[in-house]
Amino acid sequence: MTALRKIKSAAAAGNYAFVAPGGAEWQRTGPATISRSAPSGMDQVYRPENAEEAAPARFAGPPAASLGVEHVTRRYGPVAAVDDVSLAVAPGEIAALVGHSGSGKSTLLRLIAGLEPLDAGRILIGGREVATPEGGVPPERRGVGMMFQDYALFPHLTVIRNVTFGLRAMRAAEAREVAIRALSRVGLAGRAGDYPHMLSGGEQQRVALARALAPRPGILLMDEPFSNLDRRTRIIVREDTFAVLREAGTTVILVTHDQDDAMRMADRILMMQGGRIVQGGSGQDLCRKPATLQVARFFAEWNEVAGVCRGGMVATPAGDFPAPSLKDGEGAVVCIRPSGIRFGTAGRPGRIVSRHFLGETEMIHLAVPGIDQPLRVVAAPGSGPGVGTAVSFTVAPEDVLVFPAG
Ligand code: ADP
Ligand code: MG
Repeated sequence: MTALRKIKSAAAAGNYAFVAPGGAEWQRTGPATISRSAPSGMDQVYRPENAEEAAPARFAGPPAASLGVEHVTRRYGPVAAVDDVSLAVAPGEIAALVGHSGSGKSTLLRLIAGLEPLDAGRILIGGREVATPEGGVPPERRGVGMMFQDYALFPHLTVIRNVTFGLRAMRAAEAREVAIRALSRVGLAGRAGDYPHMLSGGEQQRVALARALAPRPGILLMDEPFSNLDRRTRIIVREDTFAVLREAGTTVILVTHDQDDAMRMADRILMMQGGRIVQGGSGQDLCRKPATLQVARFFAEWNEVAGVCRGGMVATPAGDFPAPSLKDGEGAVVCIRPSGIRFGTAGRPGRIVSRHFLGETEMIHLAVPGIDQPLRVVAAPGSGPGVGTAVSFTVAPEDVLVFPAG
């Protein structure tokens, strides 16, 4: 097996993080469980005033590390899979990298892990330079943990041996103790002697999480960790994972193509497109103020109506909307939020073509003369006019975004 193959198979097993000297536990037990709060302060955690109490020597593991990515490029032939990307992640922060398939998310994660060489730029972990085009620190010495899409546990090893596999630098008894503690944190200490096939998908995923965190990595890299789970399991596992990560206080880079994962787990979301980060911010920023049409489409459902800018306005059959940043004669896409359409006595004409009760809301299709596709309207159930009714409607200005046609 070549060195690279070995590295890759080790990565698939999630065994990159090794224990720093003296580091043993990622969970401190006792009357107060200590977590590092994320910079946004979104979580509510107990923060002791006394620093010594926060990190007594016996429990000291490597602290959550910062991550710096500076003008990093990685090319495959003519394709720049990662194209001049810069980002900084604070210790303890959970950052989500989102984007469509092929946008460069996994490549960026592999660069941070040390599984790929850089063509330009540099990467710092905990302020230490770990990668430049000239070379870098080997993956197993970067203090990163990994949990990849195929979080495959070793099928021939028991749950506990799967977790201690990444703790080989420790004495066996100590590794066992650390692994049991990691398993209890994910609620699976009672399954230590079972084999992976005896566990459900969600349980296997929690073992993989325990295995990735047991060595106390300074940064945990997660690539689509929930994509193999069915929807219901996914929601539960995601919540559990979030709680464990917050408690561990680890810096996390979570790659996902699911905006819901990103919104629920991350302090900050970074959207990638064509190898570049096109926008970063809170979930609310990316939903309410998307920088591009692609970001808008990724984070929300919109009605899209084409138009042309004339005198700073785009006239459409659904209304006339200001477009101050567009040039005269430039093509535009007007995005209208389905919840922003109101029926009333004045406004543009349309006709209700269908209504579907969806539980919390109702989806109404509104045919508008001059627009090919009916507009989708989200309304309170039971409200609004019946099918076939001719209506007048208006669009709330705050529910409209205008982008250049792309
Ligand atoms: P994502 O994880 O966002 O789906 P990737 O990072 O896997 O995207 O891929 C980004 C781009 O780089 C894609 O165009 C992909 O085809 C290309 N790519 C990724 N890995 C390789 C490789 N080993 N060899 C050649 N091209 C690659
Ligand atoms: Mg990927």
